[in-house]
Amino acid sequence: MVFETFSRLVDWDGKPAIQATILDVTERKNVETYLMYAKETAERADRAKTEFLGNMSHEFRTPLNAIIGFSQMIKDQMMGEALPQYVEYAGAINSSGVHLLDVVNDLLDVASIESGTLTISEEIVDLVDACKACERMLRHRAHKSQVIVSLQVPDKPIRFKGDLRRLKQILINLVGNAIKFTDPDGRVTLSAEVDEKGRARLVVTDTGIGIPKEHLSHIFNPFYRVDTHYISQREGTGLGLPLVKTLADLHGAAIEIESEPGVGTRMFVIFPPQRTVDPES
Ligand code: ADP
Repeated sequence: MVFETFSRLVDWDGKPAIQATILDVTERKNVETYLMYAKETAERADRAKTEFLGNMSHEFRTPLNAIIGFSQMIKDQMMGEALPQYVEYAGAINSSGVHLLDVVNDLLDVASIESGTLTISEEIVDLVDACKACERMLRHRAHKSQVIVSLQVPDKPIRFKGDLRRLKQILINLVGNAIKFTDPDGRVTLSAEVDEKGRARLVVTDTGIGIPKEHLSHIFNPFYRVDTHYISQREGTGLGLPLVKTLADLHGAAIEIESEPGVGTRMFVIFPPQRTVDPES
């Protein structure tokens, strides 16, 4: 049993006396100890999960790179002619390997976000170039999905202070989603511009399925996917947008969404004006 005592000097019929209160706080103490234990256990589990994600992702990457590299060699018949069916199988191994590597890389990023070790580099880059590179990288995927991707960028560079690799990751995730959630014959537009306040803006617009209002506040949560037959039929982990959000946050950028089910979605990434580098400088 645990007790707490309080005492104070009082006046008792004109004589000085001590009034003491003894409280049985056993139950409160038990609850406090239990809560502290539960909190420590949860924190330990969370750290273990983050470490596990990080370690596991590293362990996966090495064999995956071998799978991707060697299947590519067979696919390209670099060591001599292979049976057409083997070339086809090697192609399937290769694209599955590339997909798995993407997922593992996303997990690794989530682990670094959770452990607070994800940082960005500060280089002077050209946003127009980054958009063009993203369009090139996703051209094949768009073609396979029969979705037209167009670029709306100025003729001259948009000089910008940020992390090129991470900016491309933002673009690839947003444009990749736009392609994934748009039916054949749909359109995706990627634009980059500097607005009247000097803020660089990346805008990805699609004519896809749209996102119902009640899901908009959740889609940046890790592993969240809108629960429909359409979505579940498409590959995905629900990690793309949380990564985009963190990478945008690290650049001090805000994300805005306009979306209407059945009409399409528009995502804006709006950077602070300090990131735009004056062309004269
Ligand atoms: P994933 O694409 O792997 O499912 P994301 O985190 O990138 O995960 O996106 C979370 C969810 O947000 C998607 O599963 C989808 O439901 C919704 N979403 C994202 N982008 C779009 C879009 N352009 N059009 C419609 N829905 C989208």
